[in-house]
Amino acid sequence: MKEKIRNIRGIVIRSRPFMENDLCVAVITELGEKLDLIVKGARGKNSRRKGHLEVLNLISATVYESRHNSYLQTVRCENPFFRLKDSYFSIFSICRLVEIINARVLEEDPHQEIYDLLLETMTLLNSETSHLFTVDFALVKLADLLGHLPSYKNCGSCHRVEDRMYLSESSNALNCSECRNANDTPVELKYRKAMEFFREAGLSALQKISLSEEESEFLKNIIEKLFEKRMKVVA
Ligand SMILES: [Zn+2]
Repeated sequence: MKEKIRNIRGIVIRSRPFMENDLCVAVITELGEKLDLIVKGARGKNSRRKGHLEVLNLISATVYESRHNSYLQTVRCENPFFRLKDSYFSIFSICRLVEIINARVLEEDPHQEIYDLLLETMTLLNSETSHLFTVDFALVKLADLLGHLPSYKNCGSCHRVEDRMYLSESSNALNCSECRNANDTPVELKYRKAMEFFREAGLSALQKISLSEEESEFLKNIIEKLFEKRMKVVA
C-alpha cells in the first residue's frame, strides 16, 4: 500500500488503549470498510481528540496510511448520539450488533449496506420513537447482508413448502415434517412470516408492528441463534 492521506467519515465501533499513550480505534466508514486506526498521544492529558472518539460517535477524520499502519490525525465528532447513549437498554442491545460488525467486516471486504444499517439503527435508537425490537430487526437484516439468513418459506433440505415447519437446532434452517430431526422446534406460520417481513421491510416499518411478550421472546430466540455458531467460529 502506498503512503497517502485521506478524509473519511464513519462510526467508531471500538476503542482500546494502545502502547503507553495511544489509542487504537476501529471505525466502519461510510464506504463500508472497517479501519483499525492508531491515534498517537490520544490518552495524554491534553488530547482533545479523545472526546471525539467515543464508541458510537459519527466522526469525520483525516487518516494517514503508511506502509504498515493507519494513523488518525484529525477528528471531529459529527453526532454523539446522546439519546441512544442515555438509554441502558439501547446501549446494551446495540453492542451485540456492533460486536458482530466488528468481527465480520474487513477493510478488504467492504459492506456499504452494513454501514447504512448501523447508522439507521443508531438514528432510530436516538429518536423519540425507537422500538424495543429495533436491534433484533437490524440483526435479521445483518444476517441477510452477510448471506446467512435462511429461508423461512421453504424447507432447507428439500425446498418443499408445508404448513408445519421445524427450526433445525444444528443448521438454523427450517425443515419440513419429512426432513426434520427429532429435536427440531415447530415454528408457527406467523413467526415465519415475521422473519420474512424483517428481511424485506425497511427498519422504520417496525413502528407499525406490535408484538406480544410471548411473540417477542420466540422471535428473539430465533434471531439469537442466527449468530451463535458463526461467532464461535470467529472467536
Ligand atoms: Zn424437507
